[in-house]
Amino acid sequence: MYEIGHWIDGKHVAGTSGRSADIMNPATGEVQGRVALASKAELDAAVASAAKAQIAWGATNPQRRARVMMALVGLINRDMDKLALAISREHGKTFPDAKGDVQRGLEVIEFCIGAPHLLKGDFTDSAGPGIDMYSMRQPLGVVAGITPFNFPAMIPLWKMGPALAAGNAMILKPSERDPSCPMLLAELCQEAGLPDGILQVINGDKEAVDAILDSAPVQAVGFVGSTPIAQYIYSRATANGKRSQCFGGAKNHMIIMPDADMDLAADALVGAGYGAAGERCMAISVAVPVGEETADRLIEKLIPRIEALKVGPYTAGNDIDFGPVVTAAAKANILRLVESGVAQGAELVVDGRDFKLQGYEDGYFVGPHLFDRVTPDMEIYRTEIFGPVLSTVRAASYEEAIGLAMDHEYGNGTAIFTRDGDAARDFANRINIGMVGINVPIPVPLAYHTFGGWKKSGFGDLNQHGPDAFRFYTRTKTVTARWPSGIKEGAAFNFKAMD
Ligand code: NAD
Repeated sequence: MYEIGHWIDGKHVAGTSGRSADIMNPATGEVQGRVALASKAELDAAVASAAKAQIAWGATNPQRRARVMMALVGLINRDMDKLALAISREHGKTFPDAKGDVQRGLEVIEFCIGAPHLLKGDFTDSAGPGIDMYSMRQPLGVVAGITPFNFPAMIPLWKMGPALAAGNAMILKPSERDPSCPMLLAELCQEAGLPDGILQVINGDKEAVDAILDSAPVQAVGFVGSTPIAQYIYSRATANGKRSQCFGGAKNHMIIMPDADMDLAADALVGAGYGAAGERCMAISVAVPVGEETADRLIEKLIPRIEALKVGPYTAGNDIDFGPVVTAAAKANILRLVESGVAQGAELVVDGRDFKLQGYEDGYFVGPHLFDRVTPDMEIYRTEIFGPVLSTVRAASYEEAIGLAMDHEYGNGTAIFTRDGDAARDFANRINIGMVGINVPIPVPLAYHTFGGWKKSGFGDLNQHGPDAFRFYTRTKTVTARWPSGIKEGAAFNFKAMD
């Protein structure tokens, strides 16, 4: 058993609220630790000290701040295995997948080394007679990041990198399910040279989140998590006058055209549908083969691949395909949705309901499931399942397939598999979804592009990471300057002769 408190002013601090939550081992169902849940008073004190510390950090030149990012890159690489292990232990994902989680966050810190360039302003010489005009990007002050359980390294790093490099102080409120990795990242920030108080990690639940949303000094809130909470946080943060960007859930469709390489498509679907037990916002959860024959060929190729998947704890080695889901409640919800699919008439062609892992009977393992002949009115089609369950919706035509993806309320990611450039181009242009893959099943943009969904998958302006993140975490000030004629004309420069 271990205890996790908060990281405040450069130190580990025990919680004082008297409230805490269990940290589970999802592979065994045992309690392995406890995490403190912050009160409003604890949050307010952390914000007040962050606000004091931010003044000097905001005035530090951007190159020096970038050097902290540079040092952080080295330290994260040094501690990659330690960070990944902390993730696997609390989240349950496999060790190679946990390293991927750290890696995709690290890439954003690498991007943030370019902060001095990204923070450069604009300048107009002689905007009027003797007048110059210039704009500068200034930090907001104290900002907050509220992050989900499923990427405990990547998403905190996406939030903290741009915010800190731009000169803000950040209150990070990570998921209470897997709080160890964010605490390790805070230690590394300090080792990299980040001044105390600039990154405060406050563990907690709704009480801490609500305190952030109502805290006057907090200028901006970046959130990632489920859609109902994203919508709630966006409304309350903006009602309180804060800048806010909130990324939510997903139901990502992959369209498989009749001309697609069916082996490639089946391999892609298995990785994108079942990797990380389907607990990824960019997981493919709906396969849409176009035409009955395409659907039959696809299902035939999927079944043996899915039946061969290895499910187990991260400790069982690196050839495990996916681990347990995060909580007993998540497991129960996934199995309930599977039952609803069966009851509503979908064909369960791979049935994982009886999956058991010897020695891990109390763990939150869910076997892989494949549904065929799912229809848009079914609950399994409308709801984000966030588990190893892939639904197949057969479309009669390309237009019907693209229409399905466009009509769905979520708009995070999508993909098309085809050999036809014209279809791919049309799909990318017309689709009302934020991230699109062409023969790429999980089109997560790299750090120097931006990440964000449309429709119910994203609320607010601007995307995560890339140049958008620097816009989100700064505000523009524009100066118009006229210097009246001074010493240049009024003073005598000649060597005055004595009278
Ligand atoms: P969640 O919404 O339950 O929790 C996210 C954060 O909100 C956590 O820090 C949690 O403590 C806090 N929270 C939870 N309930 C709250 C409440 N009632 N009031 C205030 N704060 C609350 O999400 P999760 O289960 O941790 O993560 C999975 C979800 O995140 C999925 O829906 C997934 O699609 C989504 N997600 C989206 C993206 C994206 O970029 N769009 C990325 C990763 C995950």
